[in-house]
Amino acid sequence: MNGFTFTQAPAVDAAVRDKAAHDASAFIGGGTNLIDLMKENVSRPTHLVGLKHLPLAAIENTADGGLRLGALATNADTAYHPEVEKRYPLLNQAILAGASPQLRNMATDGGNLLQRTRCYYFYDLATPCNKREPGTGCSAIGGYNRVCGILGTSESCIATHPSDMCVALAALGAVVRVSGPAGERTIQFADFHRLPGDTPELDNNLQKDELITGLDLPANWFSQNYSYLKLRDRTSYAFALVSVAAALELDGNTIKDARLALGGVAHKPWRDTEAEDLMKGQPATADTFRKVAAKVLAGAKGFGSNTFKIELAKRAIVRALQQATEMTRPADENAFLEQFLG
Ligand code: SF4
Repeated sequence: MNGFTFTQAPAVDAAVRDKAAHDASAFIGGGTNLIDLMKENVSRPTHLVGLKHLPLAAIENTADGGLRLGALATNADTAYHPEVEKRYPLLNQAILAGASPQLRNMATDGGNLLQRTRCYYFYDLATPCNKREPGTGCSAIGGYNRVCGILGTSESCIATHPSDMCVALAALGAVVRVSGPAGERTIQFADFHRLPGDTPELDNNLQKDELITGLDLPANWFSQNYSYLKLRDRTSYAFALVSVAAALELDGNTIKDARLALGGVAHKPWRDTEAEDLMKGQPATADTFRKVAAKVLAGAKGFGSNTFKIELAKRAIVRALQQATEMTRPADENAFLEQFLG
């Protein structure tokens, strides 16, 4: 870890100014990913701007019937907030599927969006990685890529975004609130994270020195029929091989509205609105869900040790949508994965 200076920001505008005044600076909230990156010398900020004193931890109702999550609300406080448990149980399930209780107690909602890929090579300074050092190459293409993406990949990078929370936020259509040198603005969640293209070093569309201040959840709660299905190599404290956030609005057995987003498959949470539209007016049956799964994975591409994810994702989509319809959960989600892998 290299040396760095640290200041604790007293207010949002002061935090933005302080960060802008230092080259190679970074904001630090819970620090659950950034400190690891600094210890491994993957990230080398020379100045940190502490956010813990900023008044951004509240979770409050909004005038339009939605809910605002302060960027510094912890993942644990968010998951167990009564309004989240009651109105946004999909988000509750997704958050609790991620990390560990200790990490969720420290990690913030804003920081959850900014965590970096867990591609093995990104953390291995001895190997080329375009995300860590642009122009050096991608060791995962042609290497061991079990955790890498199958959708929206590029010749420069096939990494995945590691968050569970973000998959639910994508499905729910959250809005990201940010503050920066040019003032405040909002970013639709679908536009927040980026595909790798030829600039994989950029994970998201934040402008320089912009700070996430909150997340707005819309008034459509999808609280009756939902499921977050996470498939991973260990039962807990492991990142998703494939995850699916599914939510339905049903009229009897007919689908009136649907939300579907995948994790563990792309450089960003992968919401497919065309697949959602395909479900509207259709019966909530396995046949409908199989067609949807085929649509979502139509453009998928495997890279060897992750090619199994294409079929796994199809089956996970069908399973998650069935769970959302019937409001059931398997006794052991990993039994599903073990059965698939043989
Ligand atoms: Fe680096 Fe992306 Fe390739 Fe992984 S997939 S080695 S993060 S460029």
